[in-house]
Amino acid sequence: MPPYEPPDSALGEQPPRIILDANENPYGPSPRVKEALAAFDRYHRYPDPDQKTLRGLIARYVGVERESVVVGNGSDELIDLLCRIYLEPGDEVINCTPTFGMYQFSADLCGGTTVEVPRDDAWNVRPQDVRRALSPRSRIIFLATPNNPTGNQADEALVADLLDTGCVVVLDEAYVEFASRGSTCQEVSSHPNLVVLRTFSKWAGLAGLRVGYGVFPSEIRQSLLKVKPPFSVNLAAEAAVEATFLDLPLVQERIGRIVSERDRMAERLAEVPGLKVWPSDGNFVLVTAGAATDRGLKAHLKNEGIAVRAYSHPRLKGSVRISAGLAEHTDALLESVHRWSAS
Ligand code: PMP
Repeated sequence: MPPYEPPDSALGEQPPRIILDANENPYGPSPRVKEALAAFDRYHRYPDPDQKTLRGLIARYVGVERESVVVGNGSDELIDLLCRIYLEPGDEVINCTPTFGMYQFSADLCGGTTVEVPRDDAWNVRPQDVRRALSPRSRIIFLATPNNPTGNQADEALVADLLDTGCVVVLDEAYVEFASRGSTCQEVSSHPNLVVLRTFSKWAGLAGLRVGYGVFPSEIRQSLLKVKPPFSVNLAAEAAVEATFLDLPLVQERIGRIVSERDRMAERLAEVPGLKVWPSDGNFVLVTAGAATDRGLKAHLKNEGIAVRAYSHPRLKGSVRISAGLAEHTDALLESVHRWSAS
């Protein structure tokens, strides 16, 4: 099977000057997180496998019942566990491409078959294309909204249509805090086949501590809890989440700044001849350099110490995804892109 392709910045021995390739939070976590981790005095204990405190805090944040929340070692772990529960070898996963790589990765690992539904020219998923892709072996439909790397959110009509198929519909809302339309978490209680995944990696700046969660209907949740490793979310992650919620106004103000910086970056990049900038509801933008002008934008930026994400997917040839950073990161990026454009 093909391995997951991690961002360059996670691999490099010499970190790039400016890292805009992993959709991380340029502000880092709330300063209260560092204080809480330093003061924490129960590192010698195992975490609560029932995650009572964490689930309670998260349930209040998203406005659902505590019982419906399960926390994972990143939402990546929950994607993996859903595949383990639902896929026998040969069962099918619907994957609306181009999209986040872990759906295919986890499905492959469980012996599942990924059936691709290509997005349309504006990166939207057409319900009729999903229906055409369904078979008696279809089990899970994964849909990232906003989608990584294309940035667009799914509309309600599409979600309703997917739920009607009877498959388990996994809406991955990793970027919803940056989006114009809100979360679907509160819909889970009315749909036995709807799962919504969220994470602290992006908006809360906790990517390195690995803490994601999902809102699950009761039957799916019971299966999940049977297979979930009991201690996969560690106490440092738990303490960091608690500290984040104590500092929510600051973290939310930073979200606002990231969104403004994303929009400024998008507007300014759109002025560069030959670049197409896709509208984004995430903390990143996808930029396509037309075939004639594709002269290795990623390589040029890398040379100048700026890491952005490029892809092997054929429809993303000539495109890069650039995470929203601080104002100074955007300024440096724009200068570098202008040098590329003029060369
Ligand atoms: N879903 C999407 C759409 C993502 O882009 C990412 C991170 N790149 C994740 C999930 C993974 O999140 P986590 O760090 O919580 O595993």
